[in-house]
Parts: sequence; C-alpha cells; structure tokens
Amino acid sequence: MSAAAVGHRRGLARAAREALAGKLRGRGIGDERVLDAIAAVPRHRFTEEGFTHLAYEDQSLSIGHGQTISQPWIVALMTQALMTKGGLGQVLEVGTGSGYQAAVLATLAPRVFTIERVAALYRRARALLEELGYDNVHFRCGDGAKGWKQFAPFDAVIVTAAAAGIPPPLLGQLAVGGRLVAPVGGRDETQELMLVTRSRRGYSERRLCSVKFVPLVGACGE
Ligand code: SAH
Repeated sequence: MSAAAVGHRRGLARAAREALAGKLRGRGIGDERVLDAIAAVPRHRFTEEGFTHLAYEDQSLSIGHGQTISQPWIVALMTQALMTKGGLGQVLEVGTGSGYQAAVLATLAPRVFTIERVAALYRRARALLEELGYDNVHFRCGDGAKGWKQFAPFDAVIVTAAAAGIPPPLLGQLAVGGRLVAPVGGRDETQELMLVTRSRRGYSERRLCSVKFVPLVGACGE
C-alpha cells in the first residue's frame, strides 16, 4: 500500500473512533476524559479479522475461546464509574480478554495490572499492547479472582467477567478511597453492575445497571 493510502486508512479509523465517542456521548457517557480515551484506542486492532468492519459499532464481538470483547458503551460506563476528579490511579483489571479495556484504562491511568486465565488470550493481548506502545500495562496469566497482592493496594479494580459475588481478595486489595466495578450474578441470573467504594469506615455499594458478561471462571461457586 502507498504511504498516501496508509494515511487515508488511518484517517478513516480515526474518524470512526471519533464517531463512536460521539455515539457514546449521546448514550449518556458524560466524562470527556473517557470519550477522549475511546477516540484514541484503535479498537479494530482488538477484534478478530472477520469483524474489523464492526469494530466501531457499539456491540460486543467474539474474540475466540468462547470469550468476547465488551461493547464500547459498557467499557466507557465502567471506566467512567472508576474515574475521580484527579483521574485514575493504579488499576487492576480481571479478565484481559482482547486487551481493549486495558488499553482504554492505560490511556487514563499511570499503571494498569491485568490478569487473564486463558493463556492464548493473555499472550495475544500482551503482544498487541506492546506493539501499540502501551508500556504501562503489566500482564499476568492466572486466576484474577485472587487479585495481584504484590502490587496492591489498587485505586481502582475492574472485573470484566461475572460471578455470584465479588471475590473477597479483590475487596481486600482495594485502597481506602478506591473504587471497584464488577458484574454480579450467578449463571442464569440477571447480572447487576455494582460499584463498590471503600472508605475508612468500610465498603458501600451501588447498583449501576443490568448487564450480561461471560462468567468469571473458578470463582464463587463456578
Ligand atoms: N476486558 C475484556 C473483555 C473480557 S471478557 C476486553 O476488553 O476485551 C472476560 C475475560 O475474563 C475472558 O477473556 C475470560 O477468559 C476472562 N476470565 C474469566 N474468568 C477469569 C478469572 N478467574 N481470572 C482471569 N480471567 C478470567
């Protein structure tokens, strides 16, 4: 491809990302920092070959291994729920999947720690984020329900797979003043997206909306 054609393609991808951010603004995402991050991350690089043309639609897509890349609206909503006035601090993500959510977080946070249990997905996401230049993301292959004690506490924790309850180690590794967002609901149950905040006095939680995530494997009764 000629340099002009490459440039033209990049321009189209940029325009598609900005259009997606605009669509999400229309769907109630009000935090411009989050919308800027959505406009900055090339989602088409995180989808499977056959789905590239759908990369900037507001829908979840298969990434193989029975897993999905989340719908952009939910990525934005969860990210927005974690944001404070000062931005995002150190983040832990459980369920790397394609790595897209991790890239959005890495655009906003100084350091992101992300854990994936499927080795093939872990390897693919790590290689892609490295190639795209996200050098503030740290990857681990294993059970994310246990958290990542070595780097705790985390100012923000995001769980992108659903369980009947929030794994206690993740609550324990949340900093005082920190926020955790996670889908809660067993198999065949409606899942609720919960926002937990930790203060000196303990934890308080708030329901954000109903959602549909793949299960968190190996946690809470799976
Ligand atoms: N955040 C992802 C979407 C993830 S889908 C993205 O942006 O693409 C949920 C992911 O959680 C799947 O890849 C699944 O393999 C992973 N997962 C499920 N249970 C897990 C566990 N106990 N520990 C770590 N990862 C887990």
